[in-house]
Amino acid sequence: MNAASRPRAPATRLAHAGRQAIPLTNAPLAPPLYQSAVGRFESLEQFEAIYTGQAPGYFYYRYGTPNHALFESAVADLEGAEAAVAASSGMAALAATLLALLTPGDHVLVDRYVYGGTYALLTGELARQGIEASFVDLDDPAALARASRPRTRLLLLETLTNPTLRVTDLPALSRAAHERGWLVCVDNTFTTPYLMQPIAHGADLVWHSASKYFAGQSQAMGGVIAGAQALVARIRACVTRLGVAPGPFDVWLALQGLSTLALRLERASQNALEIARYLAQHPAVAQVHYPGLPSHPQHALARQLYPHGYGGMLAFELAGGKEAALAFLKRLQLIAFVPSLADVTTTVSYPPATSHRHVPAELLAAMGIRPGLVRLSVGIEAVEDLLADLDQALRALP
Ligand SMILES: *Cc1c(COP(=O)(O)O)cnc(C)c1O
Repeated sequence: MNAASRPRAPATRLAHAGRQAIPLTNAPLAPPLYQSAVGRFESLEQFEAIYTGQAPGYFYYRYGTPNHALFESAVADLEGAEAAVAASSGMAALAATLLALLTPGDHVLVDRYVYGGTYALLTGELARQGIEASFVDLDDPAALARASRPRTRLLLLETLTNPTLRVTDLPALSRAAHERGWLVCVDNTFTTPYLMQPIAHGADLVWHSASKYFAGQSQAMGGVIAGAQALVARIRACVTRLGVAPGPFDVWLALQGLSTLALRLERASQNALEIARYLAQHPAVAQVHYPGLPSHPQHALARQLYPHGYGGMLAFELAGGKEAALAFLKRLQLIAFVPSLADVTTTVSYPPATSHRHVPAELLAAMGIRPGLVRLSVGIEAVEDLLADLDQALRALP
């Protein structure tokens, strides 16, 4: 019997249901989800051509899918970078970067205000691999030179620091680093390429937690790092070998988030500025940290570097200290207590117990993080409802 005309058994037809390629002459409007762990090949020649990058196509999940490629090229374009590679989280992107670019005995200089996860990675796993880190106070202009060593390779920065929203002088620090031959790697999670493009200010590499503003709705986890093709190729090899590529659904969510990023950040920046002004005149508030306020010590630098808005992150200190902060968190009704940021809804966090809980008390004090400090991640709601919630929660605090 001819194999082609012979009817196949139901078990075979079921197993193969939907697996035929559908030849399309037009394209879907929205990016489809490529939830397929592996591609199929017509021949060894086709496999070789795709594996070696001579023909377009995709191979195996861990090496990426069309969803990864779309997300990576969108981020590279927005950051003004030659290339980008996605990872399963912001931390995975950073870990792959540092493992790809550094060898034992190398030294990195790190802003002492970096994200807690960055601090933990450098002082934990990377320290055990013989990669050394110094945490420096970048408000002190001589600090870089003092901490510099013969094997310093990299300067790690953030655009606006957590939680006190210090504005990093990226142009000046990039110049200082390049004079010494160091690479500059910037965490742009708080500001996104809509508000800040570190590469245009001299950075070599820029990375994100895509779990935050990119996806924007607290549903995805992901990371991405962008820079020159030669550097990204080394990082991509490390992402693939470590197996820290994201799943396509998370990448798909992050890509979908990009389409509304401009609108979300415009609204969040407007809301945050209005809230900062309101808090600054409230008697229960001792201090407000927001780069858009003229009272911010680096407001002039912020105006220069952030012409499109100052973002949705702000922190403030309650005059009543820890007791007032804890009462405030409990009283908020619309604004949820969440140890993360960048959701479409406004959330509040208490850095002394969340992001900075492992930082010793004397270092916290030096960083301006006092027990009354709370941080807001301002969302896209109508600002009058946010002000009303803050107002009722601030009334008659201890
Ligand atoms: C959340 C965050 C990270 C880490 O990203 P993950 O996706 O959680 O791994 C890094 N930097 C900043 C500023 C963050 O807020």
